[in-house]
Amino acid sequence: MAIIKNNEIVTSGNHSVPDSNPSYGVIKGCFANGLVIISDHARNTVPDEYHHLGLPDGEFERHIAYDIGAEALTRQLAQQLNVPAVYSKFSRLLIDPNRGIDDPTLIMKISDGALIPGNIDITAHEKQHRIETYYQPYHNAVDQMIEAAIASGNPPMVFSIHSFTPFWKGVARPWHVGVLWVENDRFARPLLNGLARDKALVVGENEPYSGGVKGESVDKHARQRGLATALIEVRQDLICDKSGVDEWSERLAQILSQIKIQD
Ligand SMILES: [Zn+2]
Repeated sequence: MAIIKNNEIVTSGNHSVPDSNPSYGVIKGCFANGLVIISDHARNTVPDEYHHLGLPDGEFERHIAYDIGAEALTRQLAQQLNVPAVYSKFSRLLIDPNRGIDDPTLIMKISDGALIPGNIDITAHEKQHRIETYYQPYHNAVDQMIEAAIASGNPPMVFSIHSFTPFWKGVARPWHVGVLWVENDRFARPLLNGLARDKALVVGENEPYSGGVKGESVDKHARQRGLATALIEVRQDLICDKSGVDEWSERLAQILSQIKIQD
């Protein structure tokens, strides 16, 4: 359990794991600022023993392995707003933390045209190993962070950061950014309104995906607790370098710092 002093995580029990922890990382921040950021697809890392899941290296530079730019944006935004964040440290090709355990796409066998040899004949034992070693510790860390925030008297809004590929099956996607939500838009609506103020931006609502994937992280961690939540998808080419991350972090910090949720 996190140790909290002055609304900040000063030491963090299981959170204070060194880089050898293969599942998740934590960014410190102040609970009183009312926001927790999560990043499910932050990294493209697959441990050596998986031999790249039988894929050529180049596949790990693509969106199929991770959300390009999401970790950098998460870090910068968390720092700028002084809010805590939890991010995953393993490739979604190993196991996808933004899926329920029973979801058939939890461990993808084919993704955007690439067959993933290391996942084709996965055994029940190996699936369980990936759940216990990568998937579950990340979710436990998110749970602990949110519970610690609630215990501090600051039930947080939960903001999930993702990025999407500009082209899908050969078709260009028109949006710069999308906000995904289901059931309750008390966080998503002011976020959408804030983004829409920049007339140069093409903003998608529940685009390029619909919100509400069964077992998705924001459901598990936020909706089921009655917390306000929104998931953002930024087009990956807009946050693939430092200037892009600076621009989007600044934009989102401005908008998010103005959002106050009334229960
Ligand atoms: Zn994602």
